[in-house]
Amino acid sequence: MTNQTQVRQADPRAGYLAQKAEIDAAIAGVLDQGAYILGPQVEAFEREFAAFLGAGHAIGTASGTDAIVLGLKALGIGPGDGVASASHTATATIAAIELAGAAPVLVDVQPDSFNMDPAALAALLARPPLPIRAVIPVHLYGRPAAMGEIAAIAERHGAAVLEDASQAHGAALGQRKAGRFGALAAFSLYPTKNLGALGDAGVLVTDDDALAERCRALREYGWRRRYVSDEPGMNTRLDELQASVLRIKLRRLGEANERRRAIARAYAEGLAELDLRLPAEGLGERHVYHQYVLRLADRDRTRAALSERGVATALHYPLPVHLQPAYRNRIAIGPSGLAVTEQLAGEILSLPIYPELPDEHVGRVIEVLREVIAGTG
Ligand SMILES: *Cc1c(COP(=O)(O)O)cnc(C)c1O
Repeated sequence: MTNQTQVRQADPRAGYLAQKAEIDAAIAGVLDQGAYILGPQVEAFEREFAAFLGAGHAIGTASGTDAIVLGLKALGIGPGDGVASASHTATATIAAIELAGAAPVLVDVQPDSFNMDPAALAALLARPPLPIRAVIPVHLYGRPAAMGEIAAIAERHGAAVLEDASQAHGAALGQRKAGRFGALAAFSLYPTKNLGALGDAGVLVTDDDALAERCRALREYGWRRRYVSDEPGMNTRLDELQASVLRIKLRRLGEANERRRAIARAYAEGLAELDLRLPAEGLGERHVYHQYVLRLADRDRTRAALSERGVATALHYPLPVHLQPAYRNRIAIGPSGLAVTEQLAGEILSLPIYPELPDEHVGRVIEVLREVIAGTG
């Protein structure tokens, strides 16, 4: 079958083409203007992203990983400190904790939300293997974590909350957006994220003036005056080209998230009768479907059958962080273990989802899944 529709799982190029004229003009403007790092485009993006979230400050960084490292350093967290997070996340979350010099301690997730289980966090903080100075909940796949409970538990034990909102630009819990619950929140702006650059980029947000000021100094060698380091810092600056692209993409973020939500509704309707566990949106939550992740028992066979029929899928993530070679038998685990995390890894499947995914492709995914799972194409 050579003429069958090929459905992509993600397509950052389509996001570029959707705003090509504006993006090309912005890039040409930056090239011509002559400032390439931390200039007027970065300042404008930081202002506009902070306004989008209703946050006091936004600090652009070179990546989402760096945003987490910088945030932890600004909180004064480093060697000897424990940081609680999930194992069911992008490796970047855990890599960042170690890059800051701290020790990750991993807790389990809830089987339906895929996010940090507050009960597992409470159990860890009641009996920590080392002092836990910060908690990094991840709003995985665009669904907000249980921030009310998580923040209350962290506060009770004197741990700071740094949200990893890398998959949740525009997600919300009630009236409050993801990224507005912690002392700091880190966002990746990697090309496939809900808000994505055309290269690496990240951003931190906070309401705290002193933390923002420290982040700005630490992102550039600890400088408060040029060439004079007040404390040892890093280099994680955002560049002007990426900032100019991000400003244009930010204008379309609301619409792009609405399209992701519409695709998710179409999947929910089209797949309702199949023997699958579909992702849900909890009461009062605004899920922005960075990924649309199913759970199914016969995952690998289904995935191969979809691929044969031209439907690309992905696994986010095939191996929990604590089972990866770099971390295995080395990373501390909370007292309630990681049974849900390990079970999920074999059952999750990320369907195609991106704002420019055509309706016909959404229909094709549904048709092929019905055929493969229920034999009712
Ligand atoms: C993408 C992502 C990161 C890392 O961001 P980079 O920009 O790739 O460094 C961190 N955490 C989560 C949950 C992510 O999805």
